[in-house]
Amino acid sequence: MKNIDQDIQDYFETIKTFRRHVHANPEVGPENPKTVQYVKSQFENLKDITIVHGAENAGVMIEITCSEQGPTIGFRGDMDALNLCESSCETHLPQKENFRSHDENKMHACGHDMHTAILIGFGHIIHAKRHNLKGKVRLLFQPGEEGYGGAKKMVDASYLQGVQNVFALHVWPNLEVGQIGFRRGPFFASVDHFLVKVNGTGGHGASPEKASDQILAVSSMISNLQSILARKISGLDQRVLSIGYINAGNKTAKGVLPKTAEFGGTFRTFDENVQAKIKEELKNICEHTAMAIHDDCKVEIEYTNSYPQTVNDETMAERLETVFSTFIEDENLFTDYTPTLGAEDFSFMLKEVPGVLFLVGTTPSDMPEEKRVFLHNPTYSPDERALLYGVQAFKKIAFDFLEKK
Ligand SMILES: [Zn+2]
Ligand SMILES: [Zn+2]
Repeated sequence: MKNIDQDIQDYFETIKTFRRHVHANPEVGPENPKTVQYVKSQFENLKDITIVHGAENAGVMIEITCSEQGPTIGFRGDMDALNLCESSCETHLPQKENFRSHDENKMHACGHDMHTAILIGFGHIIHAKRHNLKGKVRLLFQPGEEGYGGAKKMVDASYLQGVQNVFALHVWPNLEVGQIGFRRGPFFASVDHFLVKVNGTGGHGASPEKASDQILAVSSMISNLQSILARKISGLDQRVLSIGYINAGNKTAKGVLPKTAEFGGTFRTFDENVQAKIKEELKNICEHTAMAIHDDCKVEIEYTNSYPQTVNDETMAERLETVFSTFIEDENLFTDYTPTLGAEDFSFMLKEVPGVLFLVGTTPSDMPEEKRVFLHNPTYSPDERALLYGVQAFKKIAFDFLEKK
């Protein structure tokens, strides 16, 4: 394999076994205890290693002490899977090679099995080289990325205390194996969730004048909400507001105007000011719309700021451009990669410590377009050679920051 250090190439089969073990044993949710145990077991009995865990839902932190005093650099790998039934198609690699998920309701469809394996493999490679390095390498094995804010739990548990810079990668099917993409500044959007409930007076469908129509209220709110984006936010600000949930009435009682109706959705943006503005405007629009429909329509809003924007530190991102160019050709290194409206809870770590999230390609270049699928798809099967690029990228960063000169 071109551009990959020999020690990493020699370790490829072992790193694959880590990945396949984690893939076959997915865990969903904020804890991921079996994966934590598995990770710990890969580092116990090694010299110059400190293992810290036990803080609630904060995974495990493993620190490698190198031969001299120096800075501490952190690397994050998330470990959780999704509630999804994995493909059992004969051509799906985990099926073919016998490491398909043992649980019919869970699957590593976001590639966090790859992240876990890369971080274990990288830890072992760095451990073997620790006499050439100064300072400390801290491996942050994080549970609960998929909606549980595990990164925040690790920050709260002080696992980032003393860390000078922090890095993470995400496997990325829109890039080919051997490609890396990232950008300076905002990279992944923030994600907020909201639930709007309208309570009022129910009644007979034949006499709407004696009721307050909650269904009309929520349907008007939903269309009016898009006008916030169109008229209250600058066209230059990238953002999306989507309603993914609506509920009212009973389908066996079509002539009844229900007392309550509700809907919910998500809002994503790259700008904290836009995020604050939306929260305020959502309340205004819903309350004013309800008032216009009927005095009796009362609005309750639950608004949750889930994950903040993932913002890559400008100086660190610039430094990685140089670091990665030592093993990735110019045409495969995208340093101004398109931002995504997806969200990542690594953002909580980047709010504490300057660092970078970067993307590692997982699609073989000869794969036909119609076969390429994105993350969270039951047929997602990353090319395992991406493990090599992930470990190599982390190793290059560690050496750039910590090599003894
Ligand atoms: Zn995901
Ligand atoms: Zn993910």
